[in-house]
Amino acid sequence: MAAHQEKKVAQERKHKNTQNDIQTSQGQWGRAWEVDWFSLASILFLLLFAPLIVYYFIMSCDQYQCSLTQPLIDLLTGNKHLSDIWNKTPTLTYRAAGIYSLWVTFQVVLYMCIPDFCHKFLPGYVGGVQEGAVTPAGVVNKYQINGLQAWIITHVLWFANAYYFHFFSPTIIFDNWIPLLWCANILGYAVSTFAMIKGYLFPTNAKDCKFTGNFFYDYMMGIEFNPRIGEWFDFKLFFNGRPGIVAWTLINLSYAAKQQELYGQVTNSMILVNVLQGIYVLDFFWNEAWYLKTIDICHDHFGWYLGWGDCVWLPYLYTLQGLYLVYHPVQLCTANAVGILTLGLLGYYIFRATNHQKDLFRRTNGNCRIWGRKPEYIECSYTSVDGTKYYSKLMTSGFWGWARHFNYTGDLMGSLAYCLACGFEHILPYFYIIYMTILLTHRCIRDEHRCFSKYGKDWKHYTAAVPYRLLPGIF
Ligand code: NDP
Repeated sequence: MAAHQEKKVAQERKHKNTQNDIQTSQGQWGRAWEVDWFSLASILFLLLFAPLIVYYFIMSCDQYQCSLTQPLIDLLTGNKHLSDIWNKTPTLTYRAAGIYSLWVTFQVVLYMCIPDFCHKFLPGYVGGVQEGAVTPAGVVNKYQINGLQAWIITHVLWFANAYYFHFFSPTIIFDNWIPLLWCANILGYAVSTFAMIKGYLFPTNAKDCKFTGNFFYDYMMGIEFNPRIGEWFDFKLFFNGRPGIVAWTLINLSYAAKQQELYGQVTNSMILVNVLQGIYVLDFFWNEAWYLKTIDICHDHFGWYLGWGDCVWLPYLYTLQGLYLVYHPVQLCTANAVGILTLGLLGYYIFRATNHQKDLFRRTNGNCRIWGRKPEYIECSYTSVDGTKYYSKLMTSGFWGWARHFNYTGDLMGSLAYCLACGFEHILPYFYIIYMTILLTHRCIRDEHRCFSKYGKDWKHYTAAVPYRLLPGIF
């Protein structure tokens, strides 16, 4: 009887602790519960201006040979009115709507209906069903990793239809670029709005939802952590990887084809952009299982930021260099081309090696070798919503001992290489490096804020051991 009483008291105590832990961890780990005025102002700015920025860049190329200043000069001097620019902008067409619907449907079919076979014959490739990280509610989701296969099938069909069967022209994307922009916007807004409604009405996992009470913040940053339809259609994995990133290389190929059509040749700068960005895209799909452990999947909720961003921002602004080169076919001298290629490849090596080191370290729980030695690390712990305590490790050797985000540094070097390939005549192709610098610096700060909330004093020990963020000795 006494034993029974003791057990009951212990159970009640455990329940109380769990409730406290729920409040503590839900309140601290993951995206914010409360919105400060700066976040709100930034969000309103982005909601209002990000679609305009995309339109402005694409319109500048279409109507002003990629000059960013000329449209403004025309408007300020009264040479042109907004309505003149708008009236010259191609509208949504049935053809573009058809192409886009077919494209998205095809990517859904590849994602949902063809289980991965690449891992069966490609040594070292991790595909098929894989597990994601533990969510704040303590859930571990399963994902069907088949992006590499989707990329290969899509590209084989592209080449076959564009160059062998002549079913469509390889310039089809460039030729419909602005009408396709309207389609991408429709999908981006539709999916973000659907995700918001779903978060309220039928969330996949209610415990992993967050509501701030601020409509704009919730719409932008998302309510649901991992919205899904059925068991396998994961919004984050699908929208980030396909249609956006599969399209990236096709868009660049379409730009190269347009150069060929207009000038009778493809410049070395266009080849460089295609090759360097192609490596980046292929790397993404080769390492799609690793991607499950990145911030996008592990920490971000699915809202307009990811939904609209993946449908519009990524395919339209990450491909600006190729678009620019259609209007300005830059032929680089050999020394410049080799220098840019070296910078791009070095950046890629740092990016990949740093990410690989962390992945290996985490997968083996530190039982591996980094640069020929056993890795050094700091032990840390955190608590999930259900009160379970987890243990983790933060590596302090290899590239992770040089800076806390040396993977971002490599990414920035690669990004700079794409821009440099376009020469120095216009600022437009440099948007990417400016944007990536802001994105990754902000991401660094955001991630560190989250890690501090998650790990507390253990994170402080880590930042004392590795004091710099991106550049050892500087920042
Ligand atoms: P990271 O891969 O750097 O992941 C950060 C997480 O890793 C932290 O939240 C923490 O998670 C864990 N971590 C941090 N420090 C350590 C350490 N020392 N040892 C072990 N684990 C650690 O960041 P991202 O997910 O942002 O980026 C992944 C890659 O994607 C980067 O290379 C980035 O450049 C690229 N990227 C590209 C973008 C693009 O638009 N082209 C956009 C964003 C990213 P935990 O909670 O598990 O401890």
